[in-house]
Amino acid sequence: MAGRAALSAGGAALEAAGGSGAGQVRARLRLATRLAAAGIADERVIGVVTQVPRHLFVDEALATHAYDDSALPIGHGQTISQPYTVARMTAALLAQGSCSTVLEIGTGSGYQTAVLAALVRRVYSIERVAALWHRAEARLRSLRCRNVRLRHGDGSVGWQEYAPFDGILITAAANGVPRRLAAQLGPGGRMVLPLSTADGQVLVCLTRTKVGFRHEVLEPVTFVPLLGGVA
Ligand code: SAH
Repeated sequence: MAGRAALSAGGAALEAAGGSGAGQVRARLRLATRLAAAGIADERVIGVVTQVPRHLFVDEALATHAYDDSALPIGHGQTISQPYTVARMTAALLAQGSCSTVLEIGTGSGYQTAVLAALVRRVYSIERVAALWHRAEARLRSLRCRNVRLRHGDGSVGWQEYAPFDGILITAAANGVPRRLAAQLGPGGRMVLPLSTADGQVLVCLTRTKVGFRHEVLEPVTFVPLLGGVA
């Protein structure tokens, strides 16, 4: 079980490989302060926001906006999620203590993957767009996130080989809870995902109980859609 501000091996490596100047360090601290003020109470998550170099997860042309609390384009019609949303989803996933293994669907830039890698033992992440998968793989390797395994594929079928997972985080909006993913959650495991409803998208936390699943609706969100197949 990870202690409050304790980081996994992935977090320590990030700190060493962050490659950031003083300006970026200050920008991360400002972002972390802003997220705490917006209601992110989990100090582990806030601590990781101060460490992960988000400017390395966006195009150089957008680097000056990397520490704004906003989603940014990453190509292929996709976006790097808003830092508040990354923090909110991570905190919801870890709210019952800690997770050992987490499956992420929608690697995108790899930023959320790096945040998770600093907080859990092992992260598995699946991306359907080959070009994004390649880029994320190179970034996470250069940041020495060694507790991460990436895969190119359709994440809605999960990753049976490594199941069950303590946590599953989906970073694209589904029309319903993907059944095959829910089946890969271990006892007491949690899945955090954006769901599309008639009234818009909401962030949902699903917990596997002895008798089924408990649903909790967290807040409205905006995500790109979860798509089938690969690109
Ligand atoms: N966490 C990422 C979010 C990227 S946006 C980040 O912060 O950078 C969502 C990502 O989900 C996109 O890269 C999109 O290609 C991917 N995606 C959508 N449907 C998918 C599916 N079925 N399987 C795997 N990835 C998917």
